[in-house]
Amino acid sequence: MSAWVIGNWKLNPATLQQALVLANDIKEQTTELSNCQIVVAPSTLYTATLATQMHTSHITMAAQDVTAMTADTGAYTGDVSAKQLQDIGVSWVILGHSERREYYAESNALLLQKLQHCQQYHLGVILCVGETEAEYDAGQTQQVLNKQLQVIYDFLAIQAAQEKPTDKLDLQLIIAYEPVWAIGTGKIPTVEVVTQIHAQIRDVLGTMSDYLKSTPIIYGGSVKPENAQVFASSQQIDGVLVGGAALTAESFVAIAQAFAEPN
Ligand code: PEP
Repeated sequence: MSAWVIGNWKLNPATLQQALVLANDIKEQTTELSNCQIVVAPSTLYTATLATQMHTSHITMAAQDVTAMTADTGAYTGDVSAKQLQDIGVSWVILGHSERREYYAESNALLLQKLQHCQQYHLGVILCVGETEAEYDAGQTQQVLNKQLQVIYDFLAIQAAQEKPTDKLDLQLIIAYEPVWAIGTGKIPTVEVVTQIHAQIRDVLGTMSDYLKSTPIIYGGSVKPENAQVFASSQQIDGVLVGGAALTAESFVAIAQAFAEPN
């Protein structure tokens, strides 16, 4: 299976010109890579320009959020809808990132709305899940992940209520396991721990539907060129979600190379 290497640029860089240069450098330096799907999630402000720029390339565009209020248009100041994202050429949306859970109280109820809007406009979802350091230390990781993954179960229940087949999720889905304590800190869990947690996530998904067992599960949290090869070596890690190291072409491409050429 081809690995996913996804760059979450968050609120970076400071200018459109810098974003264009970064996207272009990544594009040029990854054209030869096989077995690796490159996705970038720029600031919403730059997404339309970059989507046009990358349109004919191998780089796929993701948004960092979508409104829960409506799938289409309406009186929702400051929001961006699934319909608008699809219209400008976005393919994926990152949902449930720990920063949005923490700063914007992104709950499962809100995420469920967003999932449905993405489904309606055929946008794939990169659903982030992960425990805080206190939860990790208290041995509550599995419990926390189960709660966060419940939104997939609820989404399936809605599918069933709509009399759609439930053996298959009507949505392209990637799960990003991102321990909150590893994001932007330089601290990382061992590959053995991540491998075990990914296997547990896969089991939980499998209890919801057999089909979900093959959902790509990627890791995020302080991934750098120096540790990417180790994560790439695990059969349970289907790629990475990269924050800080996605902001220079050199480090992001080095990470992509590790996944394109695993040991
Ligand atoms: C993230 O915020 O999704 C992330 C993984 O950040 P970093 O790579 O900087 O830890």
